[in-house]
Amino acid sequence: MRIYLVSTNPNKAREISSILPTGFTVEPLTVLGESGAVEENGDTYLQNAVKKLEGFLHLRLPLIADDSGLEVQFLDGKPGVHSARFLGDTSFEEKMRGILSRMCGVSNRTARFVCVAAFTDCEGDYLAVEGIVRGTISNEIRGEQGFGYDPIFIPEGANKTFAELGPEFKSKLSHRARAFRRLFSLLSLYSEHRS
Ligand code: IMP
Repeated sequence: MRIYLVSTNPNKAREISSILPTGFTVEPLTVLGESGAVEENGDTYLQNAVKKLEGFLHLRLPLIADDSGLEVQFLDGKPGVHSARFLGDTSFEEKMRGILSRMCGVSNRTARFVCVAAFTDCEGDYLAVEGIVRGTISNEIRGEQGFGYDPIFIPEGANKTFAELGPEFKSKLSHRARAFRRLFSLLSLYSEHRS
């Protein structure tokens, strides 16, 4: 099944491609000359993921999208669904420094990444699943790989940040890998059922 990814983030396309089961191909919408950009002003990850799909229903193609965020327990779950807009139009370096400065001397560093992955066939069927990875916030920005908040998130069981651990590690147990593995296994059943 050929599916198009609604996203403007090439890192997401890479991460999703790295966990693709056989029988599926994922292409970014940009290969069709579409931007993949949608205003993410929903109150939940699910609303934003579905908004991304709805922006491109006119293409009448199988589509996937995700919406994700970092939830920090000490900050009452923030930045959460507002992760992309946290501290306004600033760089990720500034957003990460903003989190670290609010947590200076704080011992409860519990956090999690959440991803909602959604699919539509553009003919009225939708599927959505969630993937979560628990961990902690580091004391400083560490590592060069990945994107977004990867340099301050240490997944449970590790002592390095996602940005230090790299793509192979993320493809095994990130929130996105977990969500999309679930989504693709449901889609395998869905496509068997339809054929
Ligand atoms: P969105 O799903 O693109 O809206 O992501 C929301 C925000 O969370 C973005 O600013 C991302 O950079 C950040 N984010 C989402 N997934 C990840 C990830 O896997 N690592 C680091 N940051 C992420």
